[in-house]
Amino acid sequence: MPSIKQTLSNAVNQLNTHLTDSDTAKLDVQLMLEHLLDVNHAWLISHAGDALTEKDDEVFQALLQRRLNGEPIAYILGEREFFGLPLKVTSDTLIPRPDTEKLVEVALDKIPDQADFLDLGTGTGAIALAIADNCPDVTVTAVDFSEKALSVAIDNAAALDIQNVTFLQSDWFDALDHQRFDVIVSNPPYIESTDAHLSQGDLRFEPMSALASGEDGLDDIRKILDNVLVFLKPQGWLLFEHGYNQSQAVQDLMADAGLVAVETIKDLGGNDRVTMGKNSLVVSTHWD
Ligand code: GLN
Repeated sequence: MPSIKQTLSNAVNQLNTHLTDSDTAKLDVQLMLEHLLDVNHAWLISHAGDALTEKDDEVFQALLQRRLNGEPIAYILGEREFFGLPLKVTSDTLIPRPDTEKLVEVALDKIPDQADFLDLGTGTGAIALAIADNCPDVTVTAVDFSEKALSVAIDNAAALDIQNVTFLQSDWFDALDHQRFDVIVSNPPYIESTDAHLSQGDLRFEPMSALASGEDGLDDIRKILDNVLVFLKPQGWLLFEHGYNQSQAVQDLMADAGLVAVETIKDLGGNDRVTMGKNSLVVSTHWD
């Protein structure tokens, strides 16, 4: 049987030959081996001369084949870290992105100590769990249209022992009755349905319903804005993640929906990424 070291260099060569759009071949292979052998990085390096068992080699070749087919490493490992939290991910959920950590940072800045927080389209639960973990006195509600995504989010909350989140199956606001929130966030689908990237790279493997949103990518943002004032407390904030070239359109839609103090924040890469707006009401109107 080949050693860990031989397996690693063989696999890296194959990935570099066949998967030319990836510049993380070595890291990917190390992560797959660590995952398979259930060891950390230091162990893998210090045992580089050890031979793999036949069974481990067989399972490794199957993992490598998935990566050679272009499947994202997060799906192969079944895990991705977000805002310091290890999250289970499956092909039913979007893979949490570092860009989305900016949305969490801005939301943390806006949220009062004791507050009601809503995450629309929670997927793995990434945003909701990051907020709930950082704000134990905040009551978090997280909704998703997909039952399968919700069950991943519920597993993540349980594994992390985060208790201040309620998960709900809902098409945006549909299942929420007579509730108002201090902060509402969403990382909705926002890619143009004709964007060629949808059939390339990682995106091919991710749920289309979490990525694409009509001709200009803004259908779901418009849908959410249709109802948002009903669900925002006076002075409450709405925050959207959106595409790098959508800030002006999202700002205009937010202003049209009656939100004020509309502003866009850039992500770590310097791209416009998060746009927010506030409910201008100072006193709540009552539900009838
Ligand atoms: N940020 C993702 C991408 O462009 C899209 C995520 C989304 O549509 N919410 O790859």
